[in-house]
Amino acid sequence: MSRRILVVGGDAAGMSAANQALRTAEHLGEDVLVTVLERTGHTSYSACGMPYWVAGDVDDVSELIARTPEQHRAAGIDLRTGTEVVSVDLAARSVQARDGDGTHRIEFDELVWATGASPVMPAWTRPDGALPHGVLPLNDLDEGAAWLALLAVDEQLDVVVVGGGYIGVEMAEAAVRRGHRVTLLARSRVLKGLDTALGDDVTAAMKEAGVDVRAGANVQSLGVAAGRVTSITVDGEEVPADAVVVATGITPNTDLVRDQLPAAAVGASRGLRADQHGHVHGHVWAAGDCAEVRHLVTGDWAYLPLGTHANKQGRALGEAVVAGPERSRWSFPGALGTVVTRFEGCEVGHTGLARGEAELLGLDVVELVTRGTTASGYMPEAEPIAIKVTAERGTRRLLGVQVVGGAGAAKRVDAAAAVLHLRGTVDDLAWMDLSYAPPLATAWEVLQVAARRVAERLG
Ligand SMILES: Cc1cc2nc3c(=O)[nH]c(=O)nc-3n(C[C@H](O)[C@H](O)[C@H](O)COP(=O)(O)OP(=O)(O)OC[C@H]3O[C@@H](n4cnc5c(N)ncnc54)[C@H](O)[C@@H]3O)c2cc1C
Repeated sequence: MSRRILVVGGDAAGMSAANQALRTAEHLGEDVLVTVLERTGHTSYSACGMPYWVAGDVDDVSELIARTPEQHRAAGIDLRTGTEVVSVDLAARSVQARDGDGTHRIEFDELVWATGASPVMPAWTRPDGALPHGVLPLNDLDEGAAWLALLAVDEQLDVVVVGGGYIGVEMAEAAVRRGHRVTLLARSRVLKGLDTALGDDVTAAMKEAGVDVRAGANVQSLGVAAGRVTSITVDGEEVPADAVVVATGITPNTDLVRDQLPAAAVGASRGLRADQHGHVHGHVWAAGDCAEVRHLVTGDWAYLPLGTHANKQGRALGEAVVAGPERSRWSFPGALGTVVTRFEGCEVGHTGLARGEAELLGLDVVELVTRGTTASGYMPEAEPIAIKVTAERGTRRLLGVQVVGGAGAAKRVDAAAAVLHLRGTVDDLAWMDLSYAPPLATAWEVLQVAARRVAERLG
């Protein structure tokens, strides 16, 4: 009988795992049956592209779909959309799955948990027990479509974004591009992981575009009339609101399996702790936003829910679940929390640890912010850029880099991420061979100037 690999969740992690499992089985001549259960009608779509779809940069939703259900089925996957897993019995190796025809029991040999995460919805979002019209998060394609319908209108609306993380910033940009009046409420500050000076640059760019940015904001309640949101009360002040983006964080979808696993297999985030092959425990595997990963700087488990990891983890998992860890050709090494985003012309990137995180680990830290330009100063392309480099005193180990600046700034963190990945020092970053031409960089690349200054400070 074929080995039955059951994948729950049909987006980045789940479909990467399913496709790789089939490829590996073919490569090794193994007999497997790969079944994917997905509760929505969508597979393999770019959630990351949704703010740009809402903004009008992407014409059609089909452009966000990397592979349709039909394409996956043609590749040999038993894909069942509109099918939600409602309970799991790990001891019996079976799940109960509900579709249009009722609830069915499905058995497995290996279970791949790839259910992603759900938005955290604070109590104030449901004043009468339900979300008022105009109040919703942005987590899946249906919500993307709902946001498009709300914001792609001729009338100018009051749009309030609650949450200063990267999804909040990207949705503020989308609403600005649609011509609306935008308020962004951040409980602490915008992109709070950034150094204060760099975060202030982002806030300044948002204010310049007309966004009313309020840091330290405490949302109290919503005003609702005839089922629609009309206002949001923040620190005692009633702010008009035709639409409210709830971007206050996410939590891993692990309720159906968590309690059946050993405590050590589940992190404080509620994410499943999957090793470099995606293996959690026994016959359970996990990848993507429902899982924690190893942080490559700290060595500890971390919850870093990003599409880049979901795809890589899924692929490593798909190989290992068929070949076994010993025969796997590759594995997912862990992550650094490397993130890039932008607000209009202001790009942001960071990787590794910020000072506060490093100090919590008891590390003796040196850091400096360096300001420069993205291209030679005499070129029209030159844009301001600020870079913060954080390193450990003594070992000179690079710990983290943050970047804020104009076009071309954000992706500079990738060179720093490469050094972090290879556990390099600030000297490695300062002296490695990075590229230069006047329209694209300075002769002493600004990232390397920033690293060199920290190296000099270290003596
Ligand atoms: C607006 C937005 C912007 C983003 N931008 C970026 C970015 O720029 N860069 C980046 O790296 N990442 C970004 N991300 C994060 C990235 O999209 C996620 O990390 C990635 O989608 C995670 O993939 P996943 O497969 O683990 O989870 P998901 O994409 O959430 O997929 C999980 C799937 O499981 C299904 N499911 C859940 N429970 C069940 C069940 N019980 N039964 C059946 N099916 C179930 C869900 O319907 C879903 O389709 C963004 C996310 C959002 C929302």
